[in-house]
Amino acid sequence: MLAAALRKNEVPHAMLFTGEAGIGKKTTAITFAMAANCESPGPMASGVVFSDNGVQSTSNEDIRIPLENKNINPCGTCRPCRKIVSEKHPDFHYIRPEGAYIKIEQIRTLCSALARRPHEASVRFVLLSDAHLMNAESGNALLKILEEPPENTIFILAAPQVADILSTIVSRCRHFRFNPIPEDQLEAYLIEKKGMSPENAMVVASLSGGSIGRALSIKNDKWAVVHRKRIIDRMEMIFRKSAGQDLYFAESLSRDKKTLAISLEIMKSWLRDLAVFQYCPDRIVNRDLQSRFAALSDTIDTNRLLDKISAIWQVERAIKGNANSRLAMESLVIKLSE
Ligand SMILES: [Zn+2]
Repeated sequence: MLAAALRKNEVPHAMLFTGEAGIGKKTTAITFAMAANCESPGPMASGVVFSDNGVQSTSNEDIRIPLENKNINPCGTCRPCRKIVSEKHPDFHYIRPEGAYIKIEQIRTLCSALARRPHEASVRFVLLSDAHLMNAESGNALLKILEEPPENTIFILAAPQVADILSTIVSRCRHFRFNPIPEDQLEAYLIEKKGMSPENAMVVASLSGGSIGRALSIKNDKWAVVHRKRIIDRMEMIFRKSAGQDLYFAESLSRDKKTLAISLEIMKSWLRDLAVFQYCPDRIVNRDLQSRFAALSDTIDTNRLLDKISAIWQVERAIKGNANSRLAMESLVIKLSE
């Protein structure tokens, strides 16, 4: 869609990219800005990569998302391409939260930069990552710019979901939804590009929620395999009522803030499979656990499983909203053992 818009010179002046963190919204936005400004479009040179904050790195990682049409792909090596990917282009404005929010001062600075003529770009870009972290003040200031957009300027807002953005801003944007990457594709990527063993790739892909960024954040796949086993063993015990309300387990998971999201993902993926197993055993994600699901599944009521999965969603939201993670995890373990 983006390539077609670029080819026809019908790029909307404001776009909203939504989808899970790490799914490729920012990478796509940067690639698109490069494509619009590239001096020698063609197949992208290998070795052009994007790290999490869009800065070019020199490793062999390969996370590029080529646009469909070959003539529109950025080369990745010309001056504008290199300046955009390394965030040094004066006409590529990358706004990300400073602290917890995108602040009004950042939008004001952007506003005055946009009031001047572009320095060198044919198309100027503004990328607002985590646009849901604008407070009302920043959101309204941005809305004023979107209502009277400067010429040859394209705004890309990236956020988890539409509901997180002021509806007045949403109505000014063309919406592009980024769907989760299918697990088999992620698995193939991890095996081919990261050299993971098929078993470990299966585990890491099952924990990624369809997000390549999250899959890559699990740098130590061996750790992930061990951590997953520990959680699943404990979940089985909770389900067999042999663990009771294991608050120590809750506390130990909550202690490591960095791995908490992965721990919750393991629980969710296990519960989901347990529900799916009763109807379509061949559709489960944790394929190595087939016989263990078979031993558990007839004792389980699907509705109660779904309740438990939504309890995990609630905890995820609460933790994102800065709730006390220990208390949240303790109440979760109590719900799971009910
Ligand atoms: Zn180029």
